[in-house]
Amino acid sequence: MNADQGGFITSRLSDGIAWARKWSLFPYPFVTACCGMEYMSVSSAHYDLDRFGAAWPRFSPRQADMLLVVGTISHKMAPVLKKVYEQMCEPKWVVAFGVCTCTGGFYDNYATVQGIDRIIPVDCYIPGCPPRPEAVLDALMKLQAKIQASRHPLAGSVVERPRN
Ligand code: SF4
Repeated sequence: MNADQGGFITSRLSDGIAWARKWSLFPYPFVTACCGMEYMSVSSAHYDLDRFGAAWPRFSPRQADMLLVVGTISHKMAPVLKKVYEQMCEPKWVVAFGVCTCTGGFYDNYATVQGIDRIIPVDCYIPGCPPRPEAVLDALMKLQAKIQASRHPLAGSVVERPRN
């Protein structure tokens, strides 16, 4: 067996840890603009984020593992976003919520960051202005799949994410 593949027990342990992580996400909503209205809608009882174990927002980065960046990010705000990201413990995931966050959207100007992946690594992009709640739930499920596919260091090979 390849050393990178890990053993049966460690790989099952890795799967179990990934399963627990994907069903217990603690979002930190970094809300700056109008997409925040849609975030509130998604967080309401109708869409029931509790089904995904992701309903309880944490307003301290140290208690959160999913950074939800919601709305336009200006260059003035960029260092704050980076600082919040750096204060979160590993493992952590970043979701870009709305086209402004993904690419700057139609704010193609000197004041707006043209996509938060220029500042921090992003795991999931949700397009739309604002995105429909169904698109947000779809992104959440895709992030869960990504977390499930991740390997714990105990199980052998680990792919490190690039750091900015
Ligand atoms: S994507 Fe649209 S709704 Fe969201 S912050 Fe930008 S302009 Fe506002």
